[in-house]
Amino acid sequence: MLAPEKRMIKMAWKFFVSMVRHQFAKWRGYEIFTPAAPLAYRDAQCAACPDNDDGQCRICRCLTISKTLMALEECPKGLWHRVWIKRLQRQAE
Ligand code: SF4
Repeated sequence: MLAPEKRMIKMAWKFFVSMVRHQFAKWRGYEIFTPAAPLAYRDAQCAACPDNDDGQCRICRCLTISKTLMALEECPKGLWHRVWIKRLQRQAE
């Protein structure tokens, strides 16, 4: 078990890495928010998961509401995975 300050540093680092990953994916033309169907699946998995501690994952300590919303996040238990979907290009007028 990590000391609280080390756990906070680890969580901040994971958040930073996740934001960089999502910005890079956005730059490459991928969706960074989870589409409706996989989002519903993720929400259902987290809602039924015994490691969901009132909206916070006991394993990664993330808030499940934000974790499921970000397309490139994944469940630490492997119950749901990253979603790679290219953004639709706007039609030239
Ligand atoms: S992210 Fe995975 S392990 Fe964490 S609460 Fe959701 S389903 Fe459970």
